[in-house]
Amino acid sequence: MDEVHGQVRAGRQAAWWLYLAAGAVVIVVYLLISADVRHLISPMVSASATVIILVVVRRKRPHLAAPWYLFAVGMALYTAADTLFGIYQFEGTAVPFPSPADALYLAAYPFFTAGLIALTTVQNRGLGWAGLLDAGIITLGATTLAWVFIMAPYLSSDLSALPLAVSLAYPLADLVLLCMAARLVLATGTRTPAFLLLTAWLCATLGADGLYYSTLATTGAPIAPEVSYTVWMASYLFLGAAALHPSLDRTPQLAEGGQAALSGPRLVLLILLALMGPVLLIVDAGEVRHQPVHVGFISAIVGCLTLLLVLRVTLLARYAQSQAGQARTRAQALERSLRDQTSLQKQLSHQAFHDPLTGLANRALLAERLEHVLSRPSAVGTTGLLLIDLDHFKDINDSLGHPVGDEVLIAVAHRLLGGVRQQDTVARLGGDEFAVLVEDLPSDGVCDYAQRLLGRFKDPFALSGERSVYVAASIGIVAIRELLPPAEALRDADLALYVAKDQGRNRAVMFEPSMSTAQQDQSRIAQDLRYALTRNELSVYYQPVVEMDTGETTGVEALLRWNPRGRDPIQPEQFISIAEETDLILPIGAWILREACLQGRRWHDQTPDRRALTIAVNVSGRQLKDPDFPETVTRILLETGFPASSLVLEITENVLIADVETTAAHISSLRSLGVRISIDDFGTGYSSLSYLRNLPVDIVKIDQSFVNTAAAKDTGIIQAILYLSHALGVDTVAEGIETSEQADRLRTLGCPHGQGFYYAEPMPAQALEQHLAAHPVPELRHPTG
Ligand code: C2E
Ligand code: MG
Ligand code: MG
Repeated sequence: MDEVHGQVRAGRQAAWWLYLAAGAVVIVVYLLISADVRHLISPMVSASATVIILVVVRRKRPHLAAPWYLFAVGMALYTAADTLFGIYQFEGTAVPFPSPADALYLAAYPFFTAGLIALTTVQNRGLGWAGLLDAGIITLGATTLAWVFIMAPYLSSDLSALPLAVSLAYPLADLVLLCMAARLVLATGTRTPAFLLLTAWLCATLGADGLYYSTLATTGAPIAPEVSYTVWMASYLFLGAAALHPSLDRTPQLAEGGQAALSGPRLVLLILLALMGPVLLIVDAGEVRHQPVHVGFISAIVGCLTLLLVLRVTLLARYAQSQAGQARTRAQALERSLRDQTSLQKQLSHQAFHDPLTGLANRALLAERLEHVLSRPSAVGTTGLLLIDLDHFKDINDSLGHPVGDEVLIAVAHRLLGGVRQQDTVARLGGDEFAVLVEDLPSDGVCDYAQRLLGRFKDPFALSGERSVYVAASIGIVAIRELLPPAEALRDADLALYVAKDQGRNRAVMFEPSMSTAQQDQSRIAQDLRYALTRNELSVYYQPVVEMDTGETTGVEALLRWNPRGRDPIQPEQFISIAEETDLILPIGAWILREACLQGRRWHDQTPDRRALTIAVNVSGRQLKDPDFPETVTRILLETGFPASSLVLEITENVLIADVETTAAHISSLRSLGVRISIDDFGTGYSSLSYLRNLPVDIVKIDQSFVNTAAAKDTGIIQAILYLSHALGVDTVAEGIETSEQADRLRTLGCPHGQGFYYAEPMPAQALEQHLAAHPVPELRHPTG
């Protein structure tokens, strides 16, 4: 499409050049040939311009066709007039005055004028008063000249009415045309070649006319008429060329605003024109000074000119005012946008260094401050860094939703801010992790400072909707004792925080170098644990659970053992939590469950007497949260053929209580299979007996910390647990019985089942088989874990 368009344009451009060249040749021919025939050439040129305008405007349909049709009519009238004139010349007859040719010439003017008005008014919606005033001043200036040199002599001559009228009509028509031409030429904006050619046509026409009539009235003959004829012919050529030029389609965008402004040269021109009248009178040009009519007329023109100039200057002043107003508005807008930009910049830099939720400093700002503080030797002994992590915050998010979680974080931020001094920096590092950089430590030291902050968590946090939640926190503390990189200070605080969490949360722990070693050990354990299953390093030990009255083994607890290749055995307490963190507990937990069930099935099959033997398997909180867990248990029971009623799943009390809602569904679906649920380490978690009533469990395992002490308080607790369990129909196992005294005491208290080194230590399956041979399993009665 573009290509076709380009080709058409190129064609038109070529035609334009051809037309100009042909026109130039015609003019040369005109000048060379004899006088009687040369005047027949002129109508040919004007006819060509007429035809070109009509063809181009019809075919190209430019945006603005009307002015061009008007020009075409004017040119057609010129053609007719030139033809008549040429015929007179050719025939050698004197041209009568006025002749029909004059009528045709004069008839063309209104069309040209109308065309120009249409071009400036229709297309550009008027060029405004300024343009009109400028054109008016120019025209009036020219009028004084015309009056003095053309019209006054005609009026003083003895011409009869018709020749006089025709003689006056030419300059008058020219003046009107000049006014319109000036308006167009003075307009500012993009000037296309077509527009420039149109301007050239007007200048040539008016110039040739001016030259022709300048001496006609006074001397009776035009000065250099051949020059005027040639220029007229050139003017036709310009109009034709303007129509033919490809830029005709592009409308020149004439501007009004620029017109109101007054350039220096234009101002000088306007003043000179205004002075024209007085000067002509002073020098008595055309000898009109002694003729009162002419003096009066010229004075009237001068008066009009002055008025127009005053109006023009007023317009200029108004324009200057509006320009100044605009400049002021622009300056104000600029000032506003500068202000906006500055505040935006401030906002951005605030955002870059602050947490959007709480408004506290963010990790980047803390790092920067830490860097600054730790670069000064004075920081040693006076600076502390606290890393604060909310305990079980995930549970709040999970159970109450994220918006509530956000509210809690904001409330915590406020509490922390309320507990620190002005020189300290409180930051939110992300999630539920906060930090406080303490400078110029208070005299009671960083530990007391941390304890005070912990104390601020004692009261519940009030939330919207009259709700409130208790949130505890763990704190890792680093006291700066040597200048160290900020990253190391943060890492040490993190280790101390980890230990605080590990020690049961809701506490502040000071960093000690040994923690680094422990951390390295943990990393190594996490690394090695990945291969423990595939390298067959895991095994299962079984510890008997006995009936206290008879000493008979009613069940066994499966306990995980890990013997890493080339290293000492690692205790479950050391690696179970790591397995939970790394999610390795999922495959490991499934593995031990399968092993235990397979083994249980074997024992059941070996002797029918052992059918009552139960197997208890520990289940971690992470496993219980796994949506596939009930399915895994079902599948393993099916695959191994171990009866669900002989399987006990031990779940630590803390897990049960912290996640009642999420785990309750799993527990009930497991219980519906026939599997029993046991609360492990009962008494260590929330230690609230009332929980027993609501928990969907079958067995309670009293934690060994109550069992292997002789404290009266612990005995009381055991009694209460036993009493409540009995009332609720829940079975009880006492863990960690080490001595005969402990066993006797529990028996006396009425505890039905016990487990501990006193009866048997955890042992491999084979050893347990021998143990069972010596300690037979009782008849199928009420199996226990
Ligand atoms: P737990 O479930 O409470 O298991 C009882 C722990 O007490 C066992 O430690 C056992 O060896 C020990 N124990 C038994 N009798 C006595 C005694 O008379 N005195 C003393 N001081 N200790 C006794 P173990 O095997 O080291 O296991 C520790 C914990 O690791 C377990 O506590 C359990 O929470 C966890 N665990 C062990 N195996 C697994 C497993 O397969 N999966 C999961 N998730 N956790 C396991
Ligand atoms: Mg257990
Ligand atoms: Mg236990």
